[in-house]
Amino acid sequence: MHPGTKSDRSTGNIFIKPGCGRFLPRSLNFFVWLWIITFLSALLPHEVRGAKQKTVRKDTSKGKSAPASPVRKLTEAAVHKTLLPPPIPSPVDPLEKREHVMHRVRAGETLSQVLARYYVPDAEKQFWARSIMRNMGSPVLAAGKEVHLYFAKPAFKRPSRVAPGTLKAIEFDQSDAFTLTWEKGIRGILFQKREKPYDVELKTVSASLENSLFEDGLKAGIQPVLLSQLAEIFTWDVDLEKDIRAGDSFKILYEQRSRKGQETKAALRILAAELINAGQKLTAIYFEKDKGQGNYYNLQGRSLARSFLRFPLEFTAITSHFTESRFHPILRTNLPHPGVDFAAQRGTPIHAVGDGIVAEAGWNGAYGKAIDLKHDATYTSRYAHMDSFADGIHPGIAVTKGQVIGYVGSTGRATGPHLHFELYKDQQYINPLSVDFPADEIIEPALQKMFENQMRTYLVELTSAPQS
Ligand SMILES: [Zn+2]
Repeated sequence: MHPGTKSDRSTGNIFIKPGCGRFLPRSLNFFVWLWIITFLSALLPHEVRGAKQKTVRKDTSKGKSAPASPVRKLTEAAVHKTLLPPPIPSPVDPLEKREHVMHRVRAGETLSQVLARYYVPDAEKQFWARSIMRNMGSPVLAAGKEVHLYFAKPAFKRPSRVAPGTLKAIEFDQSDAFTLTWEKGIRGILFQKREKPYDVELKTVSASLENSLFEDGLKAGIQPVLLSQLAEIFTWDVDLEKDIRAGDSFKILYEQRSRKGQETKAALRILAAELINAGQKLTAIYFEKDKGQGNYYNLQGRSLARSFLRFPLEFTAITSHFTESRFHPILRTNLPHPGVDFAAQRGTPIHAVGDGIVAEAGWNGAYGKAIDLKHDATYTSRYAHMDSFADGIHPGIAVTKGQVIGYVGSTGRATGPHLHFELYKDQQYINPLSVDFPADEIIEPALQKMFENQMRTYLVELTSAPQS
């Protein structure tokens, strides 16, 4: 079977469109029956569907299992069955009902020539070529490229100029991850980009920490990309480069995606992690509220990400902390320092720590060139001693979290290039480094059950991780 035909269960059936039935006599309405069958099959228990999927999915992992290794190997079907929310029921794939022909493009061959080879009438050829042009930009085909043609089954027994097969769909590989499909429906040709199926292996790793996350993690043979993900996931809870103590440890459950034995892009993703830091256990659970849009949550369903950035820039050192009182090097007197000084090279980009509106952008006395951002009714942030502002930054402009608003300098009362950063909560200075920003989001009640089920399975997997 062609691998592209089973890929995207959520968009597979173009015939299930409201209103289709109205165009056909009731007694002949094949598509209504198709829909009913699809619907009934969706009511079957998950196990049955899971098993069915297993048979259609290619499992490239067969034959290379290593029973001695702690690594668990599952196909995507099995993962869906055990760990992920039940998949959207697979509609009867229209492409499966077709006669499939794979054509390998020869040097210099055009789409039109390919179609002619299969006796597609001239008028039809134009029709297909125009549609494909629209989505692909050009009908030029690279030599060696596979073109998959799907014909209406009864007509393509013995094609001839007298009785040509009716072309129903054309499909190309766009990349290792996606196929492009043009499919003839009642309302013309429909274009779809589909993700190819992939295998998923679930693995666990763990490490004890002595000095640093990266040092000890690499020593334990853990891929750097997983270590970065781990540091990022817990960035608000612990600074994994600085706050590590002897006796700390972590466990990671992650997935590795592959197609035909090749690792895919974004192949590794942490699904769950447990970190023991200074005797405290932190947990992160990956959960997708929408397909492909996931986030990490703690056991209470609170997102570990915050609506604000932890730091507004990449800095070399924190040269002055937030204090009620400190000795000022220029004024030579004790003054409170109501912000944090981040030393950084002149010109280092400064990012808005959260979404907001530019309230002030200009010269502000001792602050030099400074920007004030109003984030919401509660929070305001100030960025001082800037060398210059980013293009388009002026009062009234909306900025998004992470947007570059200006560059590090030493304007105003400053001894050297640094960013003086202040944060206000309800018009009061607060310490930007100790504020507990609100969580980005929480799991809403409607998703709570789904989240808890997933969390339970992930935690079981984590518990089974070997302790290194
Ligand atoms: Zn300062």
